Amino acid sequence: MIDTQAYAAQNATSPLGPWNFQRREVGPHDVQIEILYCGVCHSDIHQVRDEWGGSVYPMVPGHEIVGRIVKVGDHVTKFKVGDLAGIGCFVDSCRECTPCQAGEEQYCEKGNASTYNGTEMDRKTLTYGGYSTQIVTDEKYTLKISDKLPLEGVAPLLCAGITTYSPLRHWKVGKGHKVGVLGLGGLGHMAVKLAHSMGAEVTMLSTSPSKEADAKKLGAHHFALIKDKEQMKRLRNTFDFIINTVSAPHDYNQFLRLLTLDGVMICLGIPPEPSTVPAFNLIMGRRSIAGSLIGGIRETQEMLDYCAEHNIVSDVEVIDIKDINTAYDRMMKGDVKYRFVIDIASLKK
Ligand code: NAP
Ligand code: ZN
Ligand code: ZN
Repeated sequence: MIDTQAYAAQNATSPLGPWNFQRREVGPHDVQIEILYCGVCHSDIHQVRDEWGGSVYPMVPGHEIVGRIVKVGDHVTKFKVGDLAGIGCFVDSCRECTPCQAGEEQYCEKGNASTYNGTEMDRKTLTYGGYSTQIVTDEKYTLKISDKLPLEGVAPLLCAGITTYSPLRHWKVGKGHKVGVLGLGGLGHMAVKLAHSMGAEVTMLSTSPSKEADAKKLGAHHFALIKDKEQMKRLRNTFDFIINTVSAPHDYNQFLRLLTLDGVMICLGIPPEPSTVPAFNLIMGRRSIAGSLIGGIRETQEMLDYCAEHNIVSDVEVIDIKDINTAYDRMMKGDVKYRFVIDIASLKK
């Protein structure tokens, strides 16, 4: 077994703190990755605080992982020692169901093995995430990372990047489309960058007046404050798509009005409480509400390659692991520019 240092939550209310555990030995199809950076996703906070229910403790969060391969199993073909590698939100799936066969393992009908706060496919062995010094994973669920881009900016692509890239591709967003991005945090800033790079006209819809200049630097063509009733009125019937990344409970109805005929609000944010939508608000304008979950391994690799080619990374604030609890508090206030990323070297100090 491989001794691993980590930061863990012991329950839903205490701050995260140091915790040691053991990873499995490297199997024939496994790689061992020394973790260099791990992004901090709002899903980490939802799960640490058990906002979705069913959390398992001790919990080592983190599913935006980049690092370097230090050991490979005998049958590994995709990687060699010294290569860069990445892990996203899941580390295995059933490999047999229709979504798995289609390369959409995130929708595995048996439920994939989430990178943390879950189990391996044996449904017994608990999984622990990237706020840790190393991880052992099957090469099939491990991504190749280019050495062209700064690694701390690449880490958030493994969740925030793919979660926004996948729906933009699925709905074929591009030139001629008007896209509203709701919420400028980790997912929101990647949605702005990616939608802009695909040729869409992007409007940032935010609660934070202080983020206007940044939104425009990130690639938004327009900025609107969602608390400003006049601005919201002017934007009625505007957007082909709204990418909703809001993490807190909010009313969907005020944003449905901003959609044009046949417009789609794509929900990515997973607030702990639901919003009710009267049928009328969909019927008028033949509008839809849809959802999208991260992305499969093949599409995640495609997104990483796309970002390397187009020079797209996340804008990050690199933190020491000891500052993780403060980072959570700041994210709860929307105070993030635009992803916290843990320098895992700080775990070894
Ligand atoms: P984040 O960095 O904390 O950003 C969330 C942003 O939402 C905030 O920065 C803020 O932006 C806005 N916001 C917060 N409270 C709000 C409120 N009451 N009303 C309106 N806007 C508000 O979070 P994240 O990491 O991007 O994650 C966002 C959500 O996506 C989380 O619920 C997370 O669990 C979920 N998620 C889903 C998937 C998926 O596969 N679907 C994957 C990853 C994450 P402004 O300051 O601009 O208003
Ligand atoms: Zn995430
Ligand atoms: Zn499956």
